[in-house]
Amino acid sequence: MTTNGTTLRDVMVCLDEFAPLAIAEDWDNVGLLVGDPQRLVNRVMTCLTITPATAQEAIERNADLIVSHHPLPFRPLKQITTETTVGRLLLGLLSANIAIYSPHTAFDSAAAGINQRIAEGLGLMEIRAIIDQDCQEKSPGAGRLGSLENPITLAELAARVKGFLKIDTLRFVGDLNRHLTTVAVACGSGGSFLDAAHRAGCDVMVTGEATFHTCLEAEALEIGLLLPGHYASERFALECLADFLADKFPDLTIWPSEQEADPLSSL
Ligand SMILES: [Zn+2]
Repeated sequence: MTTNGTTLRDVMVCLDEFAPLAIAEDWDNVGLLVGDPQRLVNRVMTCLTITPATAQEAIERNADLIVSHHPLPFRPLKQITTETTVGRLLLGLLSANIAIYSPHTAFDSAAAGINQRIAEGLGLMEIRAIIDQDCQEKSPGAGRLGSLENPITLAELAARVKGFLKIDTLRFVGDLNRHLTTVAVACGSGGSFLDAAHRAGCDVMVTGEATFHTCLEAEALEIGLLLPGHYASERFALECLADFLADKFPDLTIWPSEQEADPLSSL
């Protein structure tokens, strides 16, 4: 922090130390996506995703910066107009002078990132990456796996997942009575980790969501799946990130979005 206040660059440097952009996946779009690093920052909102509700909250509460896990924009744009949802969201935030920073897969994989937190929260031991990273000094790699001290059933692990993520329901593939020793964790949509988790000898993978065909493949490989939902598997970490930033920048006002909600409901 400079004597004149905190700049956007100060926050970016802190975020890059916590979740190094160098460890993000190649296909991803991370870091500062909208904004001027030299601008002063006073108010920061974290959220999982920029939506009409979270963008409106940021505007109404005079945020200078949104740290959104999911990137906006994600794909290259040729127009920014009110014809598209992405365009409307960006135009609204640009006119309110709100910057956007997205750590996404860097945060998933970081040493104290989302997958690590879930693995620790489930009580796994000897935690390591599902897929090793090239720059190991910055992160062990992508996804996590670890072992349970004493084997528990799929039903018992499901209860742990629900307790840690504070949810009432989840979906699953597999036999609830089967005993498990090795557990893989991949937040969000982790289907691409299934083969590697299976090759590593995991009995089950906890991931936010999976396609029908990924569920069938898990069944064929005899690896269980616990699916708490994409939102639940990641949103808690944006609340942790707000706490982390508030600790680093005590002079700033930092909050996790209060209007954000899972778009999916169950009956
Ligand atoms: Zn996600």
